[in-house]
Amino acid sequence: MDEEDPFGLDEDIEIVLFKCLDCNGTDEVPEYIIGEFSVDKNNEEDVELHCPHCNGTMVRARNIPSD
Ligand SMILES: [Zn+2]
Repeated sequence: MDEEDPFGLDEDIEIVLFKCLDCNGTDEVPEYIIGEFSVDKNNEEDVELHCPHCNGTMVRARNIPSD
């Protein structure tokens, strides 16, 4: 189904996989969202997000198999 995009974003968006430290759930987060969080932390490598599954702490997944 087609969803309307109110922002007209029709460009490639970098997606970063985050993994929950508490429930091991994963979430795909657009990189620009991470950029907003990293303004506070001033360190893009250590951004933490709230897990949508258990409200725990998600960190950037670093050990993703590349193939
Ligand atoms: Zn979780």
